[in-house]
Amino acid sequence: MRPDTDIQYLPGVGPKRAQLLRSELQVNTLADLLRTYPFRYVDRSSFTPIAQINSDSAFVQFKATVASVEVKNKRLSVLVGDGTGSVELVFFKGVRWIQEKLRFGTTWIFFGKPQAWNGRFNFVHPEVDSVEKAVSEGAGNLTGVYNSTEKLKNAGITGKVMNKIVHTCLESCIGEIQETLPEYVLREKGLVDIKTALRDIHFPRDTRSLDKATYRLKFEELFLLQTSLLKQKYIRSHGSAGIVMPKVGEAFNACYNALPFPLTGAQKRVITEIRNDMKSGHQMNRLLQGDVGSGKTIVALLTALIAVGNGFQSCIMAPTEVLARQHFRNISKYLAPTGVKAAILTGSSKTAERREIHKGLEDGSIGVIVGTHALIEDNVTFKNLGLAIVDEQHRFGVDQRSKLWHKATCGAPPHVLVMTATPIPRTLAMTLYGDLDVSVIDELPPGRKPIKTMHAYEDKRYGLNNFMRGQIALGRQVFVVYPLIFESEKMDYKNLEQGYEQMVHDFPMSDYKIAIVHGKQSPEEKDYNMNAFVNGTANILMATSVIEVGVDVPNASVMVIESAERFGLSQLHQLRGRVGRGSQDSYCILMTGNKISKESKHRLDMMCATENGFELAEEDMKMRGPGDIEGTQQSGLPVNLSIASLAKDGIILNDARSYAASVLERDPDLSSPANASLAAELRKGKYDIKDYSKIS
Ligand code: ADP
Ligand code: MG
Repeated sequence: MRPDTDIQYLPGVGPKRAQLLRSELQVNTLADLLRTYPFRYVDRSSFTPIAQINSDSAFVQFKATVASVEVKNKRLSVLVGDGTGSVELVFFKGVRWIQEKLRFGTTWIFFGKPQAWNGRFNFVHPEVDSVEKAVSEGAGNLTGVYNSTEKLKNAGITGKVMNKIVHTCLESCIGEIQETLPEYVLREKGLVDIKTALRDIHFPRDTRSLDKATYRLKFEELFLLQTSLLKQKYIRSHGSAGIVMPKVGEAFNACYNALPFPLTGAQKRVITEIRNDMKSGHQMNRLLQGDVGSGKTIVALLTALIAVGNGFQSCIMAPTEVLARQHFRNISKYLAPTGVKAAILTGSSKTAERREIHKGLEDGSIGVIVGTHALIEDNVTFKNLGLAIVDEQHRFGVDQRSKLWHKATCGAPPHVLVMTATPIPRTLAMTLYGDLDVSVIDELPPGRKPIKTMHAYEDKRYGLNNFMRGQIALGRQVFVVYPLIFESEKMDYKNLEQGYEQMVHDFPMSDYKIAIVHGKQSPEEKDYNMNAFVNGTANILMATSVIEVGVDVPNASVMVIESAERFGLSQLHQLRGRVGRGSQDSYCILMTGNKISKESKHRLDMMCATENGFELAEEDMKMRGPGDIEGTQQSGLPVNLSIASLAKDGIILNDARSYAASVLERDPDLSSPANASLAAELRKGKYDIKDYSKIS
C-alpha cells in the first residue's frame, strides 16, 4: 500500500476506527500512523511486585494469580495476588468474556495504571496477557506504549490493538517509504535510514536499536525545521532589498552624548549589531531580548534615531495605551537635545490633535511616532517609514503587523526590531525566532538593588498585612496579583472579588485607596484604575495577571503574588520585575496555601534563589515543557514536534542547526541533486513557519 493511503483502508481499521484515529490522534494516512511514535516502552519480561505499587505509580506491569472473581452490580471485581500483596481489578465491559478467561487460580500478566479508590487503589480495565506470550517474546523485548484517549479505549483501540494496527501498517507500506534525508547526511551524521528507524521506533529489537532510531528521528525533525528556518532567513537577507542607512547621524550623536549614564557593555554591543543590519542593504529583522529593567528603551530610541539621521521616520508600537504613554514620556526627555520631533498617537487622541499628527507624519516633520494600534489605522500615512519597533511583540496580532508593513512608501520594507522582556530559553528562541537575528541584553545597569523574594504560607497573612501597612506608611505602593484562570474567567473574577472583600476589610477605605484591574473591565475603566496607581493616588493595586507587563511605577516597592503556586516561573519573574525600579528596598512575596506540592515548593524556592530570568526560563521549560512558557502560549510553537523536545534535546538541536547552516552554505536553494530528498521534504510544508515580516 502507498504511505499516503487513507488509514481506513488498513486491514483492521475501517471507517469507524479511522474516524477516531483522525480526531483523537490526527492520523489520516498510513504515513501519519508510522509517524505517531510510542511515548514510552515497557519491557514485557519485567514485573513490579504488587507490594511496590501504590496509587501514584505510573503504568506498571505485574504478574499475578486470580484469587477471587465476583460480579458486583454489573461490574466484575477480580482480586489477584503475587505473594507480595494483592490488588483489585475492575471491569465494566466484556464482563462475561473476562470472567470466562480469568478463572480462579490462573496466572496472568497485567498492565495498567493504578487508580486511587477508597483510600486504596485498583486497576480499571488493565490489559491482560498470557504468561506464555511474554515468555515467547523473550527478555528485553520492548513494547511501545502509544498515547491513548478515553474514546479510543472505549472503541476497543487498546494498547495491544494499537500495536497490532501499527504492525500491519509497517508491513503493508514500509517498502514504499521514501528516505527524507540526503544520503550524505546519513553518512556524515552516522544516522540509520528511515525504514530501519521506523521499524525500530515502533518495535525495537533492543535498547541499542531503539536509541539509534530515536536519535535519527529527533535529528531529522530538528534538522528539517532548522533548515527551513535558516533558508527563510537566507532568502530574506540575500533576496529582498533593505533601506540602506549608511550613517549614524547627528540625532543619534546628540542624544548619545547627552545621556545621563554610560551604556552598559551589552547595550553597546546590541546597538552595534543593529547598526550593522541597518547599513547592510538588507532588511533588518531582529529580535531584542532583555530582561525587565535591562534598558531596552534607550536602545530602541537610539535605533529610531539612526533611521531619523538617515532621513527616515521611525515608529514605536506598544500593546497598550499606558505603555505607549510611558514610552513617550521616557523618550521625550532624551529627545530634547536632538531637536527631533516626536508625537504620540493612541485611541484616545483627540480629533484635532490626531489631524495635526497625521499631517506631521505625511509631510515628514514628525521623526518618531509612538503609539498603539491606532498607529496602523488606514488613514495614517507616512512620508517615509524606515523603521518599525514593536514592543512586547506577542501581544500584537499578525494582521496588525502586516498592516504596518504596508505603510512602507520607500520601495523597500521598513527595518524591524521586535523587543521582548520575556526571557526565552535558547533552544526555544532558536525555534520560535529561528528566522530572526537575535540580540540579547544580558546585563543589568549597575547599582540595581536585589529584590528580596520570599515565600509565605497563608498562616502568615497577618504578618503580611502589617508589612504592607508599614510600607504604605513609608509612602510606598503595593501590587497584589491574583492568578488568571484561563479556562474560567468567572472563577478568576471570583478570586479577585473575594480578595477584594478581604482587602477592604484589612485596609479600610477611610485610610487606604485601592485600585483594581481585571479582564472584565472596559479599556477605559482599566486605564483609569491603572493611572490611579501610576500617578500615586492609589496605595494598592489589585489585579489579575493581565497587569501590564511593562508598566513602570518606581514608587511601588512590594509585589504580593497570591496563589503563587499557580503561576509558572517565567510569569512569576515577569511579575516580580514590576518592582525594584526605584532606589528603595523592594520585596516580592509569594503567597500560597498551607499545603502545596513538592514541585510547587521547588519552583518557589528557585524564585527566592535567583533573579536571572534566563535561568528561570530554562528551569521553567524543563519543568513544564516549552508550550507553557510565558509569552508563547498565545503564539504556540510554530510547528508540532513529534519526537524531539526543546527542553531535553538542546544538544541535538544545536548540532542540527549548525549542520543545517553548513548544508545551506554549500547549496543555498537546495537545488543540487544530492539535496533533492531534502528539498522535497521541505516542500511538504510541515516545517514552514509564517514569517510575520512578510505576511501580506
Ligand atoms: P526595560 O528593558 O525593562 O524596558 P528600561 O529601558 O525601562 O528597561 O530601563 C530601566 C531603567 O534603567 C530606566 O530607568 C533607564 O533609564 C535605566 N537605564 C537604562 N540603561 C541604563 C544604563 N546603561 N545605566 C543606568 N541606567 C540605565
Ligand atoms: Mg520596557
